[in-house]
Amino acid sequence: MEKTEKLLEIRHLRKDYGNGPVLKDVSLDVHKGEVVVIIGPSGCGKSTFLRCLNGLESIQSGEILLDGQVITGGKTRWTEVRQKIGMVFQSYDLFPHMTVMDNILLGPLKVQKRDRKEAEKEAGQMLERVGLFDRKDAYPRQLSGGQKQRAAIVRALIMKPEIMLFDEVTAALDPEMVREVLDVMLELAKNGSTMMIVTHEMQFARAVADRIVFLDGGEIVEMDSPENFFTMPKTERAQRFLNTFKF
Ligand code: ADP
Ligand code: MG
Repeated sequence: MEKTEKLLEIRHLRKDYGNGPVLKDVSLDVHKGEVVVIIGPSGCGKSTFLRCLNGLESIQSGEILLDGQVITGGKTRWTEVRQKIGMVFQSYDLFPHMTVMDNILLGPLKVQKRDRKEAEKEAGQMLERVGLFDRKDAYPRQLSGGQKQRAAIVRALIMKPEIMLFDEVTAALDPEMVREVLDVMLELAKNGSTMMIVTHEMQFARAVADRIVFLDGGEIVEMDSPENFFTMPKTERAQRFLNTFKF
């Protein structure tokens, strides 16, 4: 499939928390069906970048377009935008006092005003697909880390986002649970989902990405196919970064 239709356009993004710029001048287009993996050293601005995209952080300058519409103006309705830009974080952000099913149904019922029966049916099918149907009535504390992340992914997906953002969703997991979560993301990629993924799992990055973005010091230092990036990084900074990983 040709991935040429621009879903997200990020132009000259600049973000400063008040101690100098964290993102300096970041421009990037993400096309429909494309998987962009963002890698880079700790503190280089990866989380900040994703958070800017769905309005969790304000920006100093630049603009972001979703489906050709500027969403960084003053009158953006973020509740609407966030239904189109789903996000899953490193920490499991499920509500502890609600079951898996109720966590997942919160958005469809409260925000999208969908019919409970119909939404519940879909949630059940999605839970089935990630191997969690039998845990639907469990509370988050009764789940493993990997199960919680899979539930969090379903909760984001059921809103039918146009693009999904994943911020180090396996970083807090025990090693044996990393695979089951990565597999869910690989499956989404295979089915044509548009995604931006921040990860330190380099083999996964290589397998899932259409494009690798290497962020360092608040700027895009390299942007290339996974083959090129992992076999012949162009910059010394990327080479140094990759050398810290064992393959
Ligand atoms: P990464 O996800 O790549 O590790 P972050 O986006 O979390 O990087 O952070 C980039 C930089 O911005 C870091 O120097 C961090 O300390 C700083 N930073 C992140 N969030 C905040 C915040 N809410 N207030 C002030 N500084 C922040
Ligand atoms: Mg981060």
